[in-house]
Amino acid sequence: MSGGKIGWGLIGAGTVAREWMIDAIQAQGSCEVVSVYDIDRQRSEQVARDRSGARAEESVEALLANDAVDAVYISTTNETHAPLTEAAAAAGKHVLCEKPMAMNLADARRMILVCEQAGVILGINHHLRNAATHHAMRQAIQEGRIGKPVAGRVFHAVYLPAHLQTWRVKNPGAGGGAILDITVHNADTIRFLFDEEPEEVVAMVQTAGMAGSGLEDGVMSVVGFGSGLIVQMHEGFTVKYGGTGLEVHGTEGSLIARDVMTQQPVGTVTLRTEDGETELAIEHQNLYERSVRRFVEAVQGRGAPAASGDDGFRSLALSLAVREATETGRRVTIERPWATQ
Ligand code: NDP
Repeated sequence: MSGGKIGWGLIGAGTVAREWMIDAIQAQGSCEVVSVYDIDRQRSEQVARDRSGARAEESVEALLANDAVDAVYISTTNETHAPLTEAAAAAGKHVLCEKPMAMNLADARRMILVCEQAGVILGINHHLRNAATHHAMRQAIQEGRIGKPVAGRVFHAVYLPAHLQTWRVKNPGAGGGAILDITVHNADTIRFLFDEEPEEVVAMVQTAGMAGSGLEDGVMSVVGFGSGLIVQMHEGFTVKYGGTGLEVHGTEGSLIARDVMTQQPVGTVTLRTEDGETELAIEHQNLYERSVRRFVEAVQGRGAPAASGDDGFRSLALSLAVREATETGRRVTIERPWATQ
C-alpha cells in the first residue's frame, strides 16, 4: 500500500485498459496506478506520461518486483493470462484478470489454485454482470415477476471496429474468434442472470467475411439448464445494425432488454405481463468502476469480486463446450466437476 492506497500495476496497456480500466481504477479514491508494462514500450510510456506517478517498467519481472504494486490488472492477449496470473500470485500480488481467464480449463483451474495457495484475490473482469440493467432483470426474476423462466435469448452480434480487427480475427494462438471474445461474456451473463449452472449445449459457427486463419466471426448456440430452461445466444463480429438485447420469457411474463450487451452504462428493460408493459427503473452506473470496486473491497477483506476465479472457470467451461459443439456437431455436456469442487 502506497500512502494508504492500493497500488496497481498494469500488465498490458492496450485498448480496454486505455479506454476503460485505467479510469475505472483511478475513479476509486483508494487506488493509484503506480506501474505499467506493455510489450509495446510506447504504450507503457504513454500511460506513464498520462498518469503522473506511474512508472513504465522494462519487464513483467520488474513490475512484479515493485513493492508499490499491491494488485495487477492483466489485459494482455488471452494466451498470456494464465502464466501472468501465476507469476503475479507467486509475487504476492492480487490479480484482476481479463476474460477469458484462460485458453483451457486446466490453465484456469491452476490459476485458481495458485491464487488460493498464495493467499491473493483473483477476480475476472466479466463487466456485464456489473450492469444495472442485468441486476434489475436478475432481481425481477428472483422476485417471481415473470413466473418460472422457460426461455432466454441473447443478441450480442456486433460489428468489430477496424482498430480491433487484429488478433481477434487473425490469431488463433492469441485466443481470437467470437467464442472466446463474446460468447464467454454471454455465458457469464446468463449464469449470473439465472443463478443456475448450464448443463449442455448445441451450436454452429460461421465465417462471414471478416475472420481468417480458421477463426469464427459468428456463432449461435442453444444452452440447456437442469430446470428445463433453454437459452439461445448469438455472437458475432460482422453485424453492423443489429443492436444488442437480452430477453427472458417466463410462465407469467417476459423481460425485454435492449442495448444492454455493451460496455456503456445504457439500455432499457421492459416487463411485459397480462397487466401490460412497465419499464423497470434503472440507475445506470459505470460497469468497469463497479467491477474494480468489488475487487478492491475483496482485497480489503469485504466480500468477493463481482466475478470470482470460479465464475471465470464456469463461464469459460460453457464457452469451450460451445466450441466443442461447433466442431463435433454434437450436443455437448458442460465439463464437471468445477474448479474448486
Ligand atoms: P489490445 O490488443 O488492444 O491490447 C493488448 C496489449 O497487451 C497490447 O498492447 C499488446 O501488445 C500487449 N501484450 C501482449 N502480450 C503481452 C505480454 N506478455 N506482456 C505485456 N504486454 C503484452 O487488446 P484489448 O485491450 O482489446 O484486449 C485485451 C484483453 O482484454 C483481452 O483478453 C480481451 O479479451 C479483454 N477485453 C475485455 C473487455 C471487457 O469488457 N472485459 C473488453 C475488451 C477486451 P502488442 O499489441 O504489441 O501485442
